[in-house]
Amino acid sequence: MYIPELDHPTYHLAMAQFDQAAEAMNLDHQYRDRLKTPQRALMVGLPIKMDDGQVKVFMGYRVQHDSARGPFKGGIRYHQDVNLGEISALAMWMTWKTAIAGVPYGGAKGGIRVNPHELSLSELERLTRRYAAEIFPLISPDRDIPAPDIGTNAQIMAWFMDTYSEQVGYAVPGCVTGKPLAIGGSLGREEATGRGVAKVTLEALQHRGIRIDDTTVVVQGFGNVGSHTARIMKEAGATIIGISDVSGGVFNAKGLDIPSILHDHTNGMPLSEMNVGDHVTNEELLQLECTVLVPAALSEQITVKNAADIRCQILTEAANGPTTLGADAILQDRNVFIIPDILANSGGVIVYYFEWVQDGQRFFWKESDIHERLHDIITAAFHRTLFFSQEKNTSMRMAALMNGIDQVAQAHNLRGLYP
Ligand code: NAD
Repeated sequence: MYIPELDHPTYHLAMAQFDQAAEAMNLDHQYRDRLKTPQRALMVGLPIKMDDGQVKVFMGYRVQHDSARGPFKGGIRYHQDVNLGEISALAMWMTWKTAIAGVPYGGAKGGIRVNPHELSLSELERLTRRYAAEIFPLISPDRDIPAPDIGTNAQIMAWFMDTYSEQVGYAVPGCVTGKPLAIGGSLGREEATGRGVAKVTLEALQHRGIRIDDTTVVVQGFGNVGSHTARIMKEAGATIIGISDVSGGVFNAKGLDIPSILHDHTNGMPLSEMNVGDHVTNEELLQLECTVLVPAALSEQITVKNAADIRCQILTEAANGPTTLGADAILQDRNVFIIPDILANSGGVIVYYFEWVQDGQRFFWKESDIHERLHDIITAAFHRTLFFSQEKNTSMRMAALMNGIDQVAQAHNLRGLYP
């Protein structure tokens, strides 16, 4: 079914991956159109009074892809390029991600087409509150639970939670995750995605028989996910030889001092201004010879144009959709072990699940419990996927997709078709 509003490269990538997996698993045709079409999509116009007194209208979206396995779950993105197609693709990936991790959620995603860096704090608050009010009918701890994504953070979740709570008349911490600790957030959340990325990478190294002291790592993107991944991989004994941010990258064959770089970076110094190694562009960084490459910035970074120049043994996809379909085939041919995004970066949603459970119980866990439970869930998901890929003689990406799709199709089959 062609829906013109969905036209977007990320959407086409998600659909092409789905088609490939559905074909490989010979998925019953009754599920194919159902799983390719979002269950519900809402577009909202958001008129906001700017600080100078003018009224500007922003477009907001919430796409609920599938809820056969549980309430919808997915982040809210504030970015100037957001559109319905991109949000729909990300919502679909959330459905597979929650199924692969085995957390009882469906998949959703939301966003506002805005550059949040161009707004004052009070404009950002008004925009968030208006968005929360407009999508309010779709949200609740049992129905759909948003979270932060690119361009949003714990403060934005706090405004969202407050707006929701004011509408119903009492505090509802569980209506959103990724909140500050003081209003029902979870310990261990900040580093959860990076920790999960590091955990699955360590499992992959063991699977490939590579010793941690012989492991070199390159990370593209030194934000939340990339910086924690680099820190935890270094703590595990790997040598981090390259990192980058939007300003460019640095390379040092002897290894980078991640804690000290992190300290300066957190204080606002871009990597391009640091004197810690040779300066490289983001394109050159991706082509460095290393054991593990971790794209942790944007989608579609590894394409047919540069796939042949990628020189890693393991590619851990921390970002969503960093590898195009064509590039994926080239890397598979070259025997690169790819840990797909829907598995690699699932640490974030796993700890959001813990936050939601804690909010529901009104009982909060120790940080060591969070780390341990995250480790157990993501390691088990990695080994289920690896087992499936070996059994079906297919890639980790196809195994993850087929496993995720199969679980969602099974849930639909058991629940039947309403009415
Ligand atoms: P972030 O904003 O904290 O960090 C992004 C990093 O990428 C920054 O260092 C930025 O400078 C860098 N960057 C931006 N443009 C770049 C470019 N053109 N080239 C190289 N680097 C560039 O974001 P994040 O939360 O770390 O998310 C990174 C990726 O991981 C995104 O794709 C996101 O969707 C995905 N992800 C994040 C989470 C999470 O919990 N934060 C969970 C799942 C997936």
